[in-house]
Amino acid sequence: MVMRLPFDNTYARLPSGFYERLDPWPVAEPKWVALNRDVAELLGFDPAALDSAEGLAIFAGNVVPEGAEPIATAYAGHQFGGFVPRLGDGRAILLGEVVGRDGVRRDVQLKGSGPTPYSRRGDGRSALGPVLREYLVSEAMAALGVPTTRALAAVWSGEPVYRENVEPGGVFTRVAQSHLRVGTFEYFAAREDRASLEILTKYAVSRHYPEAADAEIPALALLEGVIGRQARLVAHWMSLGFIHGVMNTDNTSISGETIDYGPCAFLDVYDPAKRFSSIDERGRYAYGNQANIALWNLARLAESLLPLLAEDQETAVARAEAALGGFAGHFQEAWTQRFAAKIGIAEPVAEDRDQVLAFLDLLSTHGVDFTLAFRHLASAVTPDAEAFQGLFSQPQAVKPWVEGWRKHLRERGISAVAASEIMRKTNPVFIPRNHRIEEVIQAGRQGDFGPFRRLHEVLQRPFEEQPESAIYESAPEPHEVVQATFCGT
Ligand code: AMP
Ligand code: MG
Repeated sequence: MVMRLPFDNTYARLPSGFYERLDPWPVAEPKWVALNRDVAELLGFDPAALDSAEGLAIFAGNVVPEGAEPIATAYAGHQFGGFVPRLGDGRAILLGEVVGRDGVRRDVQLKGSGPTPYSRRGDGRSALGPVLREYLVSEAMAALGVPTTRALAAVWSGEPVYRENVEPGGVFTRVAQSHLRVGTFEYFAAREDRASLEILTKYAVSRHYPEAADAEIPALALLEGVIGRQARLVAHWMSLGFIHGVMNTDNTSISGETIDYGPCAFLDVYDPAKRFSSIDERGRYAYGNQANIALWNLARLAESLLPLLAEDQETAVARAEAALGGFAGHFQEAWTQRFAAKIGIAEPVAEDRDQVLAFLDLLSTHGVDFTLAFRHLASAVTPDAEAFQGLFSQPQAVKPWVEGWRKHLRERGISAVAASEIMRKTNPVFIPRNHRIEEVIQAGRQGDFGPFRRLHEVLQRPFEEQPESAIYESAPEPHEVVQATFCGT
């Protein structure tokens, strides 16, 4: 008998134009890399039952559990600014949805599970390296408190995949509040399929923005909701030095979760123009450009929704523009809140922004590691600032700022204790550093998952000092610096 999982598949009950029904393709010789028991439990699955030969077969795509209705979903997308009317799940299969212990409905999706009608020239497979990266980084982001898709399982497929080199293959199981993207709306809008657009809007509202159902214009309330969540999400990313790397509209989720950890990376030295992705030659998705791009992507969502915003075009455009006009305010507010907390201020006022900006300026002028600088700043709240000043090759250079900041805190009535407490909760000790991820991937390719497990363990508690794991705190040595990341698709 095949294992039964408590799926309830609402997307598979939508009209057939929303997806193609098909089973994952089996792989030769699957082996476990990881099963995430916490996520299994969150979903209401029995981790012990999944941690079995049958569980392995399910997460390899070799067995379809009872209750699943596997589909590849249709979507379009703007990739680096150019519109592709039909993308869709080219290497992913949605097994089904489950309502978790917390009452939240989530998708369970296999990634790298073989070709689908949307594969175009791709093989539908995933190399193991990107599987390890997505597992680690998405789980680190969850532990850091960032809205994100989660990792349920990673499997070694036992089959080679052919990229620039021959690589071991992998299958990743991703859990998401849904896989609705801006590109899903673009897909139906481009086909001028108003009926499907209405169905999709209703679906997105009921799944992610139920309060919008009672709004006068639900599609507008949906748009406003997505704008708010995306603005807050990008501010949150930036506060951790995260660079998504491939913010195409098909990778912009309607639920407001971070999705698709392809060429993502974290800032080492603070540099707003930083980009890592080898295919992002012009820096479209650079660290400091992410808010602009999010807004650009949201404008594509607004365009797609125009037919539902008003009967006449002019009114619809005016409504869309007004909604998009709200982005900057949401972003500024969230950015200020996050970055003020990073310098010890829980309830920011306008002047606090200047303090933050001056600090960031110092970091870029002196080429200082973003994560270490903020983490050690807490120790500089009292005159013993050695650990912090030691990060600067010219410690004197940072003194005036530090003194100004202490004075600023005093004037704002914020005690040293209060400031350092909020800073320690806001500024992580541990992030998935690019060079550590590279190490994990190199070892994983050789079948050694020790580094993967150790890094995963450390990243579960990113805000806690873990003296035994101090090596994971450090910035890369010059020869360890990762210069470029690759999509790996
Ligand atoms: P991504 O870069 O992962 O966001 O993928 C962009 C698009 O390319 C999506 O439609 C994917 O399904 C498709 N794609 C990426 N890699 C592959 C692959 N190996 N085989 C087939 N389709 C792929
Ligand atoms: Mg994608």
